[in-house]
Amino acid sequence: MTAVATQVLGWEDDPGAPDAANTPVPRPVPDPSKDPLPSAIDGTAPKPDEYDPGSSQFRYWVAADALRRVADYWGAILGDVAWHSSVGDKLRIVLDEGRDFNAFYDREGLHFFHDTTPDGTTCFSDNSADVVCHEFGHAVLDAIRPQLWDAANLEVPAFHESFGDMTSMLTELQLESVRETVIAGTGGKLARSSRLSRLAEQLGWAIRQTAPDAVDGDCLRNAANSFFYSDPLTLPPSAPANQLSSEPHSFSRVFSGAFLSSLAGMFSTTDGGSDSLQKVSVDLGTLLVDAVKATPVVAAYYSQVAAHVLALAQQRFPDNGYVDALRAGFVAHGILALQHTTVTLSDAGRALGIVPRVAPTELTPMALSGTPYGLGEDVLVRVGAEPKRFAVASAAPEGGAVEGAPQDRVAAGFVEDLFRRGHVRIDAQLRTGAEVVRDRSVHTHEIVRDDGALVLRRRVFDCGFRAGA
Ligand SMILES: [Zn+2]
Repeated sequence: MTAVATQVLGWEDDPGAPDAANTPVPRPVPDPSKDPLPSAIDGTAPKPDEYDPGSSQFRYWVAADALRRVADYWGAILGDVAWHSSVGDKLRIVLDEGRDFNAFYDREGLHFFHDTTPDGTTCFSDNSADVVCHEFGHAVLDAIRPQLWDAANLEVPAFHESFGDMTSMLTELQLESVRETVIAGTGGKLARSSRLSRLAEQLGWAIRQTAPDAVDGDCLRNAANSFFYSDPLTLPPSAPANQLSSEPHSFSRVFSGAFLSSLAGMFSTTDGGSDSLQKVSVDLGTLLVDAVKATPVVAAYYSQVAAHVLALAQQRFPDNGYVDALRAGFVAHGILALQHTTVTLSDAGRALGIVPRVAPTELTPMALSGTPYGLGEDVLVRVGAEPKRFAVASAAPEGGAVEGAPQDRVAAGFVEDLFRRGHVRIDAQLRTGAEVVRDRSVHTHEIVRDDGALVLRRRVFDCGFRAGA
């Protein structure tokens, strides 16, 4: 009888582009079905072993290892947390569901795909710890803040995407080998481009073979960037990757850039060692999720999240330099206007305190005219009903702070963007012939009739690997 292997192979982050020197590393046999944040991969698990990197058995254990690692990271921080009720006890994982450069979370599970580039290279979206952790991040954020799912607000889905990327970076930092490589490779200046900042190098490469301006030049998205906040209502719905658009993956890079700057600043206050980096990664992840739990779903969502992170850091880490590092990160990317980095509670916020004890308010419906979208009647969308807790705003690129648009204009801008990008599915019986619909394999939203009214609702967080398609 052969002994059962105690190790499998996994990627520390990503296989990289085809010419990359990355090699898989031995990992303990993971069990993604165990607490915390359990998941279950469809199908039968191949016998644990160190398989050939071209095989489906190899990819199975890559995904299982990444799932275990990201669940351990967020599980230790979040404690007793349950998936969104429609997910059930275990997050379903569907590896290699079909042909596409894509992956998505749909409130049931995570779905991964494969596709082939014109030169015949086949890439699988499950064959990357970066991508698996990003998708898992969507599910975690949905578990702790389900109100973000349907918010008609351009900054909210962008934050969801950023949370996925931040999840990948934070999970990667739980591996000592990655921490040491990144510290050495950046000279301890973590805001520099590195394997930490570069998300999904292989999928980025695959997409560039047919859509060279759809993703960054060295990966899917690089958090070592200089993007500065602009009100997303003023941005085009799509743009080449070296420019900012209101498309959620594009706009997410502003927040991810501030996150990496902040992480680098926090790390620079330590002794610069691997253990200190691990501590910083846990401290920052904890601040982030505690802030997200408390932040009201308002139009200026980025600045409110940042203000909550700062307020919590002031309470918990008043003396170690974290607050200055976070302030600098948020200002450098315009998430907070320069005059708004000393966080002050608004009148409403004073009544609520920094971290409210009460559960967040559900979103409320708002009626928008369906005429601009070719629909014959109003459409109900969902918007946040809570007031801002902090009297802060993001920066205006020309100086000072942005004014911020009223809620109805924010919601209408969000819906218009979805239609311009062809992301809305409309039930056949609701079509009038005047709507502009695009046949895409993944529609992030749909318009359905619910209780007599037309309602816009989200179907998935699509990971946009076909950006530009
Ligand atoms: Zn995503």
